[in-house]
Amino acid sequence: MDKMTLEPHYDDDCIFCKILKGDIPSYTVYEDNIVKAFLDISQGTPGHTLVIPKTHVKDIFAYDADLAAAVFSRIPKIARAVQASDPAITGMNILNNNGKVAYQSVFHSHIHLVPRYTDHDDFKMIFKDNSDNYSPADYAAIQDKIKVSLED
Ligand code: 5GP
Ligand code: ZN
Repeated sequence: MDKMTLEPHYDDDCIFCKILKGDIPSYTVYEDNIVKAFLDISQGTPGHTLVIPKTHVKDIFAYDADLAAAVFSRIPKIARAVQASDPAITGMNILNNNGKVAYQSVFHSHIHLVPRYTDHDDFKMIFKDNSDNYSPADYAAIQDKIKVSLED
């Protein structure tokens, strides 16, 4: 997979493509033939890093298996380097937002590495537990609707 060659294509209106082309500067921490990792301008917590494929891919739904394998296989190495950058980092949230409703604001796929320091740092994530509202039949109906798309 490391031997994969990317034929990059860029979207002229995409801010991350501009970073890839060097038209906009970034604080790059790692890059190779497949990905570029650079500091998120927001620094949600110190060390907040984005990992992007070096070609314009809108979101997770647009990846093929080879690109996904190549991009996601690089995440642990970059995550470990971010973690090693500060002994105060005690955990990390790794997030990939897809679609406006899911908080995607830049439509060039990216993976957020958000170092965590304490319960009271600047990152929050809430999953509501709705399990009281679901019967076994409800779960099974959802399961079937998802599985049908994975059958071919
Ligand atoms: P999203 O909301 O799409 O999951 O995340 C997009 C991220 O890109 C945001 O966290 C935002 O701070 C970051 N961002 C937007 N524009 C720039 C930029 O020009 N440079 C860098 N380094 N980060 C950016
Ligand atoms: Zn792009």
